[in-house]
Amino acid sequence: MDLYSRKELLGAGALVLAALAIGLAFGGLGWALFAAAAAGLVYQHRDLRRFVRWAKKPLRRPKFANAGLEQASRSLRRSLKQARRRTHEALQQTSHFRGVTAALPDAAILVDGEGNIESFNGASVALLHLKRKDTGKHLGTLLRHPDAIRLLNQETPDPTAEFSSPFIEGQRLELRRVPVAKDQDLILARDVTHLNRLLSMRQDFVANVSHELRTPLTIIVGYLEAIDDDELDADTRRRLVGKLASPTHRMQALVDDLLMLTRLESSPAPEPGDLTAVDVRLLVGSVVDDLAGMAGKGHQIEQRIPCGLRVLGIEKELHSACTNLVTNAIKYSPQGGRINISWTGGDNGAMLEVSDEGVGIAPEHLSRLTERFYRVDFASARVRGGTGLGLAIVKHVLKRHNSQLQIESEVGKGSRFYCRFQADQLQAPPSAA
Ligand code: ADP
Repeated sequence: MDLYSRKELLGAGALVLAALAIGLAFGGLGWALFAAAAAGLVYQHRDLRRFVRWAKKPLRRPKFANAGLEQASRSLRRSLKQARRRTHEALQQTSHFRGVTAALPDAAILVDGEGNIESFNGASVALLHLKRKDTGKHLGTLLRHPDAIRLLNQETPDPTAEFSSPFIEGQRLELRRVPVAKDQDLILARDVTHLNRLLSMRQDFVANVSHELRTPLTIIVGYLEAIDDDELDADTRRRLVGKLASPTHRMQALVDDLLMLTRLESSPAPEPGDLTAVDVRLLVGSVVDDLAGMAGKGHQIEQRIPCGLRVLGIEKELHSACTNLVTNAIKYSPQGGRINISWTGGDNGAMLEVSDEGVGIAPEHLSRLTERFYRVDFASARVRGGTGLGLAIVKHVLKRHNSQLQIESEVGKGSRFYCRFQADQLQAPPSAA
């Protein structure tokens, strides 16, 4: 880059020559050169003032007499424009990032290399109770947990930490550290309470199934070992083989119930095409007939079915639900106990009810009865021969028919299990139609 243009150099040369000529002609060479230098200074000073004025708003197009200044200010203006464009892009990216993190359901907190909060999204307010004034503070100290502090201080190779929330009792939080820059980490926090509950439910379920299967299996193995004796007479052997039936049926019932439950839970909601108009009178009749052997111990089963409405549903599932309710009523009632099955209804819907005058259930158990393998009295339920899955099946069947199981009970007086079907789940009997 030339500091002066050719024109400027020629002008400066001409000025010096003119000063020399005037100075020699009039005998004042020193004054003439001084005047020429002063004129040059004024010229330069004028450009300098222009430059200072331009520098206040450097994005304007520069215009200077001095070629060097003109060129320098032009390249300065170009770099400024580039820097401005880059800043604009960076700002746009930052606001896009903010928008993305704001939409995240999990808390996202940007921290510096030491774990101090730089910024955070909206979910952090609800989950970690962060406030604007917490910016700059150490996230670990706000979460008040040694594992969180270790994670934020990078004292552990594990990028995750799980601990109890200091804000909501019973809530479990998971933190994950994601490095985003040399001295910057993104901390993602989420509520894992539900996930943990599901995992422990799965573990409980596997433990329960194994336990339930082990009992009859142990009995079967015991009898098989006894049978495997060459000295046994035919009668004893036949008697021992007969003993295998009960634990085998028990295992079969358990596997059947498990399969049924899994099918109910994993099947999509029934489509209108899957539904048939189920005649409840016939359904209850067939359930009672099937259980006649079981109820033979003097139970009196009364059916009160004044309503002819049919349920739009899946007959096999409804049959299973009804069977489970009536089986329980028989199982948990003394010999000779009275059991009522009723189907009543009108324009606003209909209700299926199974009530007994049996042992009853204490209030604290009522909300947990439909959990798999939940029993009020484990030992007695075993003796009565249940799988512990009956009411869980009923719950899922009813859910698939837009209904739910309601239970009322009093210890020593009996229980009432009922459910309501909405009008749009019902169909008038053919004669009425
Ligand atoms: P189970 O196969 O053990 O009967 P269920 O899921 O059908 O399993 O029932 C869960 C528990 O609910 C039973 O173990 C029993 O304690 C209680 N229960 C169910 N029905 C009745 C009833 N009619 N009367 C009293 N207790 C009942």
